[in-house]
Amino acid sequence: MDFSFTQEHEQVRDTVRRFAAEEIMPIARKHDDDETFPRDMFRKWGDLGLLGVRYPTQDGGSGMDKISDCIVREELSYASQGFASTWSAHTHLGIWPIWKAGTPEQKAKYLPGAFDGTKVGAFGLSEPRGGSNIRSLSTKAEKIDGGWRISGAKTYITNSPYSDFMLLAARTSPELKPHAISLFIVDLPNPAVVINKLDKEGIRASETGLIHIDGLEVPDDALLGHQTGTYPIILDSLSENRVGVAANALGMARAARDASIAYARDREIAGKPLGTYQAIAHKIADMEAEIEAARWLVYHGAWLVDQGKLTAAMAAKVKLVASETAVRCSEQAIRIFGGAGIMRDYPVGRIHRDALVYVIGEGTSEVQRNLIARSLDL
Ligand SMILES: Cc1cc2nc3c(=O)[nH]c(=O)nc-3n(C[C@H](O)[C@H](O)[C@H](O)COP(=O)(O)OP(=O)(O)OC[C@H]3O[C@@H](n4cnc5c(N)ncnc54)[C@H](O)[C@@H]3O)c2cc1C
Repeated sequence: MDFSFTQEHEQVRDTVRRFAAEEIMPIARKHDDDETFPRDMFRKWGDLGLLGVRYPTQDGGSGMDKISDCIVREELSYASQGFASTWSAHTHLGIWPIWKAGTPEQKAKYLPGAFDGTKVGAFGLSEPRGGSNIRSLSTKAEKIDGGWRISGAKTYITNSPYSDFMLLAARTSPELKPHAISLFIVDLPNPAVVINKLDKEGIRASETGLIHIDGLEVPDDALLGHQTGTYPIILDSLSENRVGVAANALGMARAARDASIAYARDREIAGKPLGTYQAIAHKIADMEAEIEAARWLVYHGAWLVDQGKLTAAMAAKVKLVASETAVRCSEQAIRIFGGAGIMRDYPVGRIHRDALVYVIGEGTSEVQRNLIARSLDL
């Protein structure tokens, strides 16, 4: 078995690493402090072809693969998770369902702008009354002449404060069954959709919204794929994105480890570098081993996506391991830094706040364990 990256994969990594060092790292702290995202970044990503990495060229994408998509995520996340999450919500959550299930007209309308960064997408699934239990969602779409009238609420929706379109999950019939949930593509802004930006403790540069939808009327053309019952598309999208966000977590874990190594070399305690104390060296050794395990799992997951063989249980394993690794590594990093770990002048506190988002978003660790357990026929 050959587990090495191709030359193209290495080139993608070099390009993103250089871009992140030049264009993201210098401004990441400011945007984390301000809780704002610089929207012109989407055009820069678009110009580099980074918004369509995993999509085929015939659909307007960059024609690479899921492994490349995970490399981009890992390197963006190493620089700033606020920026990487913004990229992720747009390139996967906002684009994938349209690419997978949209009609030719829907693809022609949304994908070109989404790939060149002139249009920003969001994905509205979670609701104030619960994000884990998707089947209970209560946003309602009622059929009216020539379209649908939608009312309800969504929360924690990444990119929504400035997005141009949002995929909105709504109940198109009252039963608590999969076929009762459908996706709509909603153009924004719209007076019937009120979006309030939320204050956050993690991924602060990524903008997140609480959304109230009151009598929003959309035409029949807004129904994704002109089909009700697109709940399976939501599940497939979440599965693939669990592998994706695991790559984000891997980037954060690496950043925490590298910061810890640099600090352990530089900081002296009683005349000796911190890293020469075995208690500290063991923490870093654990990080190194866990990151190595997470890396294999993430890229195995990406390879399974590319082979069309990813299962929901496998996606859950990848996400569970990588996100919990990022939380553990960043927490250990704070301990290694001592008081400095709590100070904003050092990166590890931010990485830990950001990592905690990843044991919640795309399904909590408990939900991942439920999915894994379900596959075991216990
Ligand atoms: C920063 C951020 C960005 C996000 N971006 C988006 C986005 O762009 N689009 C979107 O749709 N959503 C988004 N989310 C929402 C995210 O997917 C949900 O927060 C997540 O699915 C959990 O839902 P909840 O917050 O309602 O928690 P709840 O479902 O209320 O869960 C609360 C607790 O109960 C546990 N729990 C729930 N059900 C079970 C169960 N069956 N078994 C065991 N334990 C259980 C959970 O694990 C958790 O510990 C985002 C969230 C955050 C924090």
